[in-house]
Amino acid sequence: MLTRRLVLTRSALGLAASAALLWAIVVTRAEEAFAVSHTDEEWHKLLTADQFAVLRKSATERPFASPLLHEERRGNFACAGCDLDLFASTAKYDSGTGWPSFWAPLPNAVLQSPNGSAFFGIEVHCRRCGSHLGHIFNDGPKPTGTRYCINGVALKFVPK
Ligand code: FE
Repeated sequence: MLTRRLVLTRSALGLAASAALLWAIVVTRAEEAFAVSHTDEEWHKLLTADQFAVLRKSATERPFASPLLHEERRGNFACAGCDLDLFASTAKYDSGTGWPSFWAPLPNAVLQSPNGSAFFGIEVHCRRCGSHLGHIFNDGPKPTGTRYCINGVALKFVPK
C-alpha cells in the first residue's frame, strides 16, 4: 500500500515531469515556429558579437552608431540574421532618434511581439528567423503614423 507521503512524493515528481515535458514542447514549438532557426551556438558562428546581442538577445545598439543612418541609396534593408528583405528605402526617414527609422515594413516581413508598452514600444521581430529588430512607436510620420525604430546592426542594406 502506498503511504500518504509516497503518494505526495509521486504526485510532485509527476508534476515536475509534466512541467519539464511541457517546457520541452514549448521550447521546441518556439524553435520550430520560424522557417529559419538555429541554436545559439550556430547563431554565434553566423553573426558578429554585436549582431548576436541585438538579434538574439534583444540588446539595443548605441544611438547614432549605425552607418545605415546615412544610407540614402535606393534598395532594401534585409535581416542580418536570414537575409529576408524587411524595409524599403522608400519608407525610411530621419526620426532624429539615432536609430534607422521606417514608417512601414515590407509586406509579410515582420512580426510584433505582444510585449512592450507605449513608452518602450512594441517589440518587432523578423518574420522568417524570429530575430529581434527593434521597437514600434505611434509617433511616426504620414502615411502610417508608425515609427519602426530599428537597430542598424540588425540590418543589411541591399542596393537596387
Ligand atoms: Fe531574419
